[in-house]
Amino acid sequence: MQTITRRGALMAATATVTSGLAATFDKSAAAASATSSSGPPTRQDWIAFARTVTGPVYLPGTASYTSGKRLFDRRFDDSSPAAVMVVERPADIAKAMAFTTRFGMQVSARSGGHSYVGASAAASTLVLDLRPLRGVRYDASSGTVLVGAGAGLFDVKRQLAAHGRALPTGTCPTVGVSGLTLGGGLGVESRARGLTSDRLVAATLTLPDGRSVTADRAHFPAAFWALRGGGGGNLGVVTALRFATHAATSKGIFTLTFGGGAAAKVITGWSRWVSSAPRSQWAGVHIDALGNGRLHVSILGVTEAGAERVAASAVRAAVRVAPVAQNYRQLSYLDSAVYLGGGTTSARQGFVGGSDVFADLTADAAGAIVRAVTDRSRAGGTGSALLDPLTGAVGDPAADATAFPWRDHLASLQWYVGVGGPGGYASADSWLGAAHRAVGRWSAGGYVNYLENGQPPSRYYAANLPKLARVRAAYDPDRRVHGGLTL
Ligand SMILES: Cc1cc2nc3c(=O)[nH]c(=O)nc-3n(C[C@H](O)[C@H](O)[C@H](O)COP(=O)(O)OP(=O)(O)OC[C@H]3O[C@@H](n4cnc5c(N)ncnc54)[C@H](O)[C@@H]3O)c2cc1C
Repeated sequence: MQTITRRGALMAATATVTSGLAATFDKSAAAASATSSSGPPTRQDWIAFARTVTGPVYLPGTASYTSGKRLFDRRFDDSSPAAVMVVERPADIAKAMAFTTRFGMQVSARSGGHSYVGASAAASTLVLDLRPLRGVRYDASSGTVLVGAGAGLFDVKRQLAAHGRALPTGTCPTVGVSGLTLGGGLGVESRARGLTSDRLVAATLTLPDGRSVTADRAHFPAAFWALRGGGGGNLGVVTALRFATHAATSKGIFTLTFGGGAAAKVITGWSRWVSSAPRSQWAGVHIDALGNGRLHVSILGVTEAGAERVAASAVRAAVRVAPVAQNYRQLSYLDSAVYLGGGTTSARQGFVGGSDVFADLTADAAGAIVRAVTDRSRAGGTGSALLDPLTGAVGDPAADATAFPWRDHLASLQWYVGVGGPGGYASADSWLGAAHRAVGRWSAGGYVNYLENGQPPSRYYAANLPKLARVRAAYDPDRRVHGGLTL
């Protein structure tokens, strides 16, 4: 038996698949339940379940299972979920909830598959692959867009741009709108328009008890609070999101490249600039280890078309170091999305990432960041420190207005290492740990969309953790939905 579908494609059972299922079921990862059956689902249980849902259900030992559970990061290619269900109809999620509850299992929601910890294909869970739910429907009368939970960022941008509208999101074209929004959503329009989650008007989700509810400011307000920055997989499975859009406008883009020795000055100068720059202007810093002891240092800026040279000039004045190269361009909204995202899609990668959040970037803190990246380069490794501003519209809501806590902070720093093969993860992990230690004195925590294993939830939610834990306990008391963090 390879793939189980309701439509009768039931194939002969094989010992391989049956034992594969038994071998991958890990009771420790699945919460116990009074209604649980005594063991994992049998092959007959899966067959009976698959007959009740529309999309296919893939079991271990099959090519469809192997490709269906694949995430963006190759590191998780060996993940061992119990099965993968392709969600063709939101109503089938309630059936999956009932089935997994019966067996004391968890579900993991899979949208864009960019989880840093492989949470969307977690061991022993039933993966709910939401990618077929990718409709994007713009409503001109309200200026809102209804987005299916499985849509990728470029899908959304392309379809909205056809109406002259946009959403502030991240740049990677294949990141899922669901995972991005649930954790916050930082991008080049964050200073002007806020987080992606700040534009969320309502979200429809299937709760562990099978109810489908729509949360907004007036209905299920606690869930609505938690869905904006609380991270994926905490309350239920989101099936659709409604956002307030804004006009899509042409962009001015500049890149300033500096000598490696100027890195600390670039960080502190940039931090002065992002504290007071007009919110229609955005810039981020890249400090890259070149693997030969040297650094590549640049600032990427994005403004409204026509403002890029003025903004770059203000950045240069704040940094007080002359760039060694400068580059300017103006692009239509959609062309800027393609340019900034490196295309309309992105190939799978291996990577290690993590983050720190800063309220301020003093010369000492900047020096520590630069030393961490330089150490990596001197050790022959590549890797980056990427600074994104949290200023401007990100700071408009109060820190407790949504689950995203970093409203009074200056910057998020992402540590990112592209990993070429399995052997590269250990050194990248070790560098990430060293980088955190190097900046620990100044770090307020981390950004939940750059989640790391082994970190406490308080690191990602700060003072919002107690409320988030209460909301989670109210909506998912038995932890039926797997998230990357245990709240
Ligand atoms: C190359 C790359 C570029 C990135 N760029 C940015 C960026 O510019 N800005 C930024 O803010 N972040 C960025 N991120 C981080 C990204 O926002 C997070 O990794 C995010 O969680 C990915 O969402 P996803 O839907 O793609 O991933 P998934 O792996 O599908 O989901 C991530 C988490 O959310 C849960 N989840 C997914 N869908 C749902 C749902 N419908 N209901 C409930 N839970 C769900 C999953 O179970 C998992 O725990 C980037 C990541 C990568 C790898």
